[in-house]
Amino acid sequence: MVTAADSSVAAHARYEPVIGLEVHVQLLTVTKIFCSCSTRFGDPPNTNVCPVCLGLPGALPVLNRKAVEFAVLAAMALNCRVNETSIFARKNYFYPDLPKGYQISQYDRPLAEHGWIDIDSEGGTKKIGITRLHLEEDAGKSLHEGFPDAVEKTAIDLNRSGVPLIEIVSEPDIASPGEAYEYLTRLKEIILYTGVSDCNMEEGSLRCDANVSVRPHGQKEFGTKTEVKNVNSFRFIREALAYEIERQIELIDSGGKVTQETRLYNANEGKTYGMRSKEQAHDYRYFPEPDLLPLVVDEKWSSQIRKLLPELPEARRERMVVDYGITEKDAQVLTSSKALADQFEEAAKSAKNPKRVANLVQSELIGRLKAKGLEIEQSPISMKGVAQSSDLVDVGAISGKMLKDLYDLCFQRGKDFPVVYDEEGRPQQSSDTSALEKIIDELIAANPRQVEQYRAGKKTVAGFFVGQVMKASKGQANPQVVNELVAKKLG
Ligand code: ADP
Ligand code: MG
Ligand code: ZN
Repeated sequence: MVTAADSSVAAHARYEPVIGLEVHVQLLTVTKIFCSCSTRFGDPPNTNVCPVCLGLPGALPVLNRKAVEFAVLAAMALNCRVNETSIFARKNYFYPDLPKGYQISQYDRPLAEHGWIDIDSEGGTKKIGITRLHLEEDAGKSLHEGFPDAVEKTAIDLNRSGVPLIEIVSEPDIASPGEAYEYLTRLKEIILYTGVSDCNMEEGSLRCDANVSVRPHGQKEFGTKTEVKNVNSFRFIREALAYEIERQIELIDSGGKVTQETRLYNANEGKTYGMRSKEQAHDYRYFPEPDLLPLVVDEKWSSQIRKLLPELPEARRERMVVDYGITEKDAQVLTSSKALADQFEEAAKSAKNPKRVANLVQSELIGRLKAKGLEIEQSPISMKGVAQSSDLVDVGAISGKMLKDLYDLCFQRGKDFPVVYDEEGRPQQSSDTSALEKIIDELIAANPRQVEQYRAGKKTVAGFFVGQVMKASKGQANPQVVNELVAKKLG
């Protein structure tokens, strides 16, 4: 018997999806792209507006230099070629949140082209092409009271009107919902590293439109695509694409035709709905914006911007594996945000055993942060604290179990590791050095061979003594102090 599931699997085997993504990212400039109004999110509606961003007749746009620099920086991070000259264009359409009746965007001469992102896919690393990256202004926001069930009133907030955006258009190189998810994850990570956007999807600073079609395996021409708009999480985009692929295959298999249209995703139902037939480029009557000069990013400016480019996640992962002897998996987790990676490196540099620090961050810190809904920047345990705790475990001063307990206390009390370690009965360091010195003297007397090795230049032997002292003091001694005393006595 052929079940519905079987025939769906069979249908899937005959078709392949083709996906291209258009991503809008708001830039973190202080002021808007063509006027000096604030871009701040969450201010009372229609308070950050002026004649320019309200679209009043006769008001003239002035390009924000910072917006250009941020866009160029993002383009460089995405391996794009930055065009020396690009042209702003008017994209004409009517919508209540667009009072000018057109959006200033770029059309046939965009800021940057021909980039790519490397993603992990089933067949290994895959390059997803980036067709173009251009600058444009955001529109205002329509607020629907009672949305989505019973809209009674719609109001317009124009604070967002004129916030700078970059639009990043991918080639139709993405072959599955999983790859789309991966592409978006990598894209967001790269943009976050450059610092040009906070990529906060809830606040709409990163928005994605997903284009998808299916075609029989082996067919060269693309099928007709639909565009799923306004999906507000990467997971929902993956789900929406999976639903849409299924829907298109069923439609074609039952003799129907996919119509080119814009669709909306209802996350509660897991379904997409047709919203409107898709505009074609010629519907927009694009023409060069007469109120703005061509944008010129010359050699000098562009090399200044290139200097601001940070080490990007992929390169950083590769370097961290080498520098700290950690696994690729470790590096993946530890570079998931720039802040985490920065902090990890700070700790790893000062710790005896970077690999242990990597393990502690992943096994002890991240889970506790997640449980409390905290970001790494809000962690009660600083990376210095993690490094210190790692050293204590390393020299045998505390056990793994004790470390876990101490971490729990840190989170309960909202205090850093060294503080809690002291609170939990570590002796005052200063008054205790004489006792420590006595222990060290005894150890030196009892281990002449190690002393000889040390004095012959094998400095790592100091670790042996430090470990012994920590054990003798039942972990109560301050490893820093012990380190110094041991070095002094041996030297
Ligand atoms: P439109 O003018 O309809 O917006 P574009 O050519 O600008 O179309 O492409 C928009 C996005 O759709 C791009 O990311 C592109 O890669 C993707 N795309 C184009 N054709 C298809 C197709 N047949 N199936 C899936 N995606 C497509
Ligand atoms: Mg388009
Ligand atoms: Zn303004």
